[in-house]
Amino acid sequence: MPLHILVMICELSFANVFSLPELSSRLMPPVRGENMTYSERVIAELEARYPEQLEFIQAAKEVLETLQPALDAHPEYEENALLERIVEPERVIMFRVPWVDDEGKVQVNRGYRVEFNSAIGPYKGGLRFNPTVTVGMLKFLGFEQIFKNSLTTLPMGGGKGGADFDPKGKSNREVMAFCQSFMTELCRHIGPNTDVPAGDLGVGGREVAYMFGQYKRIRNEWTGVLTGKGLTFGGSLARTEATGYGLVYFVDEYLKSIGDSFEGKKVVVHGSGNVAIYAIQKVAQLGGTVIAASDTKGWVEDQEGIDYQVLEHIYNKKRSGHDQGVSLAMYVDERPNAIWHDGDGRGVWQLPCDIALPCARENTLHLEDAQALVANGCKVVGEGANMPTTPDATTYLMENGVAFMPGKAANAGGVLVSGLEMSQNAEHLSWTFEEVDGKLESLMRGMFHNVDDTAREYGHEGNFVMGANIAGFLKVAEAMMAQGVC
Ligand code: NDP
Repeated sequence: MPLHILVMICELSFANVFSLPELSSRLMPPVRGENMTYSERVIAELEARYPEQLEFIQAAKEVLETLQPALDAHPEYEENALLERIVEPERVIMFRVPWVDDEGKVQVNRGYRVEFNSAIGPYKGGLRFNPTVTVGMLKFLGFEQIFKNSLTTLPMGGGKGGADFDPKGKSNREVMAFCQSFMTELCRHIGPNTDVPAGDLGVGGREVAYMFGQYKRIRNEWTGVLTGKGLTFGGSLARTEATGYGLVYFVDEYLKSIGDSFEGKKVVVHGSGNVAIYAIQKVAQLGGTVIAASDTKGWVEDQEGIDYQVLEHIYNKKRSGHDQGVSLAMYVDERPNAIWHDGDGRGVWQLPCDIALPCARENTLHLEDAQALVANGCKVVGEGANMPTTPDATTYLMENGVAFMPGKAANAGGVLVSGLEMSQNAEHLSWTFEEVDGKLESLMRGMFHNVDDTAREYGHEGNFVMGANIAGFLKVAEAMMAQGVC
């Protein structure tokens, strides 16, 4: 065989295993740039090692870039390679999920659990079922979860998982078959004192219930191994409402701190799922008016105030196993004065408003959206979703006088009540709605002050991103230092 053909074959088969940039980056020695701070060096090493994990790099940068004042105050962290350890998950589990569809065909999806950090408690974080799920996306979500869970003040570590399965358009039987197969493998890795998953995008009460049933069946034990369970089998009252309510309590506490309130405020919301619905309900209870909401098909404008009960009705239809043709466009059937706009839900950012609440998913509020919000008088952005605001949009908002509440703190209400669900399961008790909601409200309001005070303590008053990152980080860092190199 001519030599050049042999070389070509070798190159092709080599490229199938590793792309060359990928291989060279993984073999790269640690970055030792001149004049780099500790956090800059760790970011550069991560970018070189995981160039394909874009969301994870974005999230890691967002956190590490704000930590330097705390790192300067604690030189022992660098001496003990604390950042290098905190950015690597303790464990990443990947597995195949075979299941049979309604036509009798075998389907295969990929399942994951990223067990990121257990320094302050068992791994805790949701499961996402969505075709876009990758290891990089789950590492981003799991990394965020470490600091979010720390901010709640409850003993919970950080984790995240999911699969590239899309529950949309599937029958209930297909969703059950998938969930049972997913849990058949996942049950080896989780437990009430090890790792306690919950829902996220694409995983609501239906999916949690199917997975809980399968865990119980295989392990022959009834434990609070998942949160977000149904109320008849260990779920907590107010868990459904927790993330949306918590977001609004957090923003309201900020408004109170500047002598203001939700009363009379115009609010726009991106999304119309679990987080959005209950944020909308709570804004109305506090005297504000939500004038727009969205889904993946478009957005709806209702200047009289979005009716959260109509959204609840559509949300339940979407998750009924008969969701063909169901979309937020159906809102106008119930509320004829509202206007439906087909297309990109980001249209909500064009409306004049006082407060914007992105509650759909990551990277859905872009620079041009931030510019429109500022131009139209928006003064507060509270992230209900995880990392919905792109980095350039975040910078623009903060530089233009918008009070920016990062999701890491502002949307922690869901996991906070999940922590309370774990406590109730361990005690074999159920608390009332008022008891749970009361704890949620006081912890979210307290969290705002922790974030605010930390920003001030480190010389960056009003920078809630820095306040949340440093406050969340310090508790985990202290626990990791105490536990030695592990
Ligand atoms: P849901 O699945 O209930 O709702 C998601 C909403 O966002 C739906 O309205 C959906 O529209 C819309 N959406 C989905 N993808 C896109 C997209 N690419 N562009 C625009 N809109 C989109 O999820 P949740 O409300 O539970 O979660 C929303 C966000 O909040 C996620 O980032 C999640 O990680 C985060 N979060 C959730 C918590 C919880 O307790 N639920 C806790 C903390 C954070 P459609 O219905 O058409 O799909």
